[in-house]
Amino acid sequence: MSVIRLANATLPDGRRADVAIADGRIAGIDEAGAPAPEAGQTIDLAGALLVPGFVDGHIHLDKTLLGLPFQPHRPGASVAERIAREKDVRRELGHPVEARARRLIAEIVAHGTTALRSHVDIDSEVGLSGLHALLRAREEARDLVDIQIVAFPQSGVIADPGVADLLDAAIREGADLVGGLDPAGIDDDIEGHLDAIFAVAQRRGVGLDIHLHDPAELGCFELRQIAARTIAAGLAGRVAVSHAFALGAVDGEEFGRTAEALARADVAIMTNGPGPVPMPPVKRLIAAGVRVFAGSDNIRDAWSPYGNGDMLERAMLIGYRQGFLADADLALAFDLANARSAEVLGLADHGLRVGAAADLVAMPAGSIPEAVAGRPARLLVMKRGRVHQGSSEAASHIL
Ligand SMILES: [Zn+2]
Repeated sequence: MSVIRLANATLPDGRRADVAIADGRIAGIDEAGAPAPEAGQTIDLAGALLVPGFVDGHIHLDKTLLGLPFQPHRPGASVAERIAREKDVRRELGHPVEARARRLIAEIVAHGTTALRSHVDIDSEVGLSGLHALLRAREEARDLVDIQIVAFPQSGVIADPGVADLLDAAIREGADLVGGLDPAGIDDDIEGHLDAIFAVAQRRGVGLDIHLHDPAELGCFELRQIAARTIAAGLAGRVAVSHAFALGAVDGEEFGRTAEALARADVAIMTNGPGPVPMPPVKRLIAAGVRVFAGSDNIRDAWSPYGNGDMLERAMLIGYRQGFLADADLALAFDLANARSAEVLGLADHGLRVGAAADLVAMPAGSIPEAVAGRPARLLVMKRGRVHQGSSEAASHIL
């Protein structure tokens, strides 16, 4: 049994420790300097902060244009217009999905993400081709990152006839969750859209992750509909809504009854700390009992020229937008991109404890709040006990 010892790590609680890794798992966490029990490789972290791998709860591996020359953004005034612009880009550039995914996976893994949830476009034009490409990319990258796939109806379910059947086929062929998108804003049919996607989820026994940009009271009405259907379908704890800008744009009473409905159905809310639009109030949601998690969303694609897949930077952006300043709040922002995302994704062996998967990241910081504030380089990234970035030399040079 080969053992790797990560020596002189600073743990999130401030202790110095030596962390033993065996068979892809954390085998021991001992006070730094304790005699090593057996021979094996030792990597001296020289005081670097050691944390569990980051978990990106929402990304689009099939959309990125990374790998191509920088593409100027083509604006669209509405979500529907931007969907049309994206189709133009897709047709003109012909950039294969597998190449996009491979390039973006390399980028995010270098930043310490060890698990992710990717949406993949399913529509009447591309059918399941994007899914098939992502399934191949997932297999190719399985030693680097764990990937969940959401079958995402980017052009709607009612507005793009036949997509409900494609979503069903996508689950049969390997997608993990059913997606959805703006039942009112894109399909103009809240009942019809939710009927279709919940039917697939129930039939196939999978969860849902629904994009929701619809605003204010309309969006909150849809959130309560989703919560009610989640309970009726027996899917409590297995449904997430991504973005949910509406929660940041309503008064206290509307927010309160919507948050209460979400908490009762255990519907989680994903935020990426978006630009100048309302965003869900993270601490108020958590106080109401709603699980909140984080993701990158669009990275250098037709939707956004920004992004690099760094979930530590994402934590900073969310904290910045939420006005987080205290250490405890910076640590909360970190958790959204780490333990809280892992929990929503159902990653039971995520964490820095004996027996957990050895998915770990080391970086030059004295604490998690300092890391969020400074976004230091990742010195070491380990997936199931295999180091695929960094070295002790790098650590000793930087620290
Ligand atoms: Zn998205």
